[in-house]
Amino acid sequence: MSEITHLDETYVAHAYARFPVEIVGGKGALALGSDGRTYIDMGAGIGVNAFGYADPVWRQAVIDQLDAVQHTSNLYFTEPCAKLAQALCERTGAGKVFFGNSGAEANECAIKVARKYASDAWEKAHAEDAQEGEPPAAIITLENSFHGRTLTTLAATGQDHFHGLFKPLTPGFIHVPANDIAALEAACDRPDTCAIMIECIQGEGGVNVLAEEYVQAAARFAQERDMLLIVDEVQTGNGRTGALYAYMDYGIEPDVVSTAKGLGAGLPIGACLLWPKVENVLQPGDHGSTFGGNPVCCAGALSVLERLTDGFLADVRAKGAHIRERLEGAEGIAGVAGKGLMLGISTVKPAGDVVRMCIDRGVLCLTAKDKVRLLPPLNIPDAVLDQALDIIIEVCR
Ligand SMILES: *Cc1c(COP(=O)(O)O)cnc(C)c1O
Repeated sequence: MSEITHLDETYVAHAYARFPVEIVGGKGALALGSDGRTYIDMGAGIGVNAFGYADPVWRQAVIDQLDAVQHTSNLYFTEPCAKLAQALCERTGAGKVFFGNSGAEANECAIKVARKYASDAWEKAHAEDAQEGEPPAAIITLENSFHGRTLTTLAATGQDHFHGLFKPLTPGFIHVPANDIAALEAACDRPDTCAIMIECIQGEGGVNVLAEEYVQAAARFAQERDMLLIVDEVQTGNGRTGALYAYMDYGIEPDVVSTAKGLGAGLPIGACLLWPKVENVLQPGDHGSTFGGNPVCCAGALSVLERLTDGFLADVRAKGAHIRERLEGAEGIAGVAGKGLMLGISTVKPAGDVVRMCIDRGVLCLTAKDKVRLLPPLNIPDAVLDQALDIIIEVCR
């Protein structure tokens, strides 16, 4: 056992089952191990390193901001925070943005906004009467969803095996099966529901792409009842699926979008995008985050967003199509799900075995439920991608 492995096992909480790889460096899509081996990183830090390791443009943006000011507080203004919010709003239909540090925090914000919006509306409607009762506060989420690890986002997550040991969770979440329009409508018709929260492509839940009619029905149901449609784009966002945000391929307008992972390209940032209908729900004192809007993270994120042009996104789609073309029909591969560079491979061999064998051959992959999941850097060079695919194909055979 290496010294670092030993220290980690001794002192770091055993919340993770790590692979026997210590990463000490990297360039682009290649990670360098402490054993001197290079690995093609097809997981990109779980979709975080959007431009791979040590990307020069992102690095320069971060370093320049680090030299200017690394942090102030949300008592004062900083340029990267304001400009990133502007860019996020101008590239979507959002009117305002709240910044946190992670996907879970972005979702916490979305949930708070949904509940406050519902309670503001309820108070307005009942201002005259002395009616007893409570505003609707329940949020509909999907089975197999994943929304984070805080007690509230865990409650939102529609996977029971995450819940067991941590009850009681935050109340007020209702899970319905994905792509079942009737079940969704029935849940929306309950008097206690105030929002629907979906991932357009479920990531941790197994790379399950939601049907277009389903997402459009969700948007319609929400609008008809003045409920909010929250789209969790923590994993799908920022170019990952070949659209700037995955909802854009569904012909809908959400009310709230949460995003994180690839937005920071390696630094922790989460953003909760608020469409005009809800942009003023949060008022001073309602919510906050000490590190939220950190100027270094925002400067890096702004450089990422600026590079996600239409041409770049077309390249992401082309790379994704190339992966599918090579993998679909290959021996030992039953199918490929997903979009752009967010793909889940159904393998005949157990996904965990495939991942371990790939590591031995110098390729880092992820799993999602029973699939092998690929989330490579968005700009992975074609030749490097083909090398990784050669190995994945051999291993799956
Ligand atoms: C990863 C993920 C989260 C949680 O993000 P953290 O940064 O780990 O808090 C939430 N939702 C989705 C869809 C995710 O993929």
